[in-house]
Amino acid sequence: MRKKLIVANWKLNGNWAFNEAMMSELALGLKQVQWHDREIILCPPAIYLQQLNGLLSDTPILLGGQDVSEQFFGAYTGEISGQMLKELGCRYTLVGHSERRVRHQETNELVASKAKTALACGLIPVICVGETREERDSGMMNAVIQQQIQSVINCLKADISDVVFAYEPIWAIGTGLTASVNQAQDAHEFIRGVLKQHEELCAQKVSILYGGSVKAESAQVLLEMPDIDGLLVGGSSLISSEFLAISLSSLNSK
Ligand code: PEP
Repeated sequence: MRKKLIVANWKLNGNWAFNEAMMSELALGLKQVQWHDREIILCPPAIYLQQLNGLLSDTPILLGGQDVSEQFFGAYTGEISGQMLKELGCRYTLVGHSERRVRHQETNELVASKAKTALACGLIPVICVGETREERDSGMMNAVIQQQIQSVINCLKADISDVVFAYEPIWAIGTGLTASVNQAQDAHEFIRGVLKQHEELCAQKVSILYGGSVKAESAQVLLEMPDIDGLLVGGSSLISSEFLAISLSSLNSK
């Protein structure tokens, strides 16, 4: 019932030549594969969406934004709207990545509002949640994640079933420290439980991805966990052989 998603977050990386080389390597590695209910999504810097949209046409790869404005249009310098992402070929957008929550002081309410705008523009928001090391060590982890999700539920109400969540423990992002398979599964089960309290069907429908220093060698075992429906990949998505191996490993999982 739930889609399996492999999402590449390129962050502030890429250039014309790199993008072109990456696309031809990925296209070669992904062709002639039956993806069925799997999706591969690339979130490059917005400035490259148009270039990549042109290069992706013969691949199974879909495009996503790394962020979206809460606003639809107007005097918001530097922002990118949901409609703009749609026009550039995006089907998804990340929302509430910890690098935006921490560095740009994005609150739970703002993240929820961005997710609402994304849906209104026909985009599927991939909403990132997760705890810091201190929050985990002090036993606050579940409360923090519950609050992050509850804000989205309060804002989206019945539309909550149309989003994707990504569990990204902040201490595992870009640090080389992956959560253990059990830590990840426990957190995903907790997130599904929070959704279940809202509505059983929503909990069954919403895909929950894991992100945090995922590598080809850890992808398969994570994807075999019952509540892990896909992966959000940062650093490893910039190495074509790693990202190909991660994407292909989704085919071998449940
Ligand atoms: C991310 O930024 O979403 C991420 C998971 O990064 P990394 O894989 O590099 O930890």
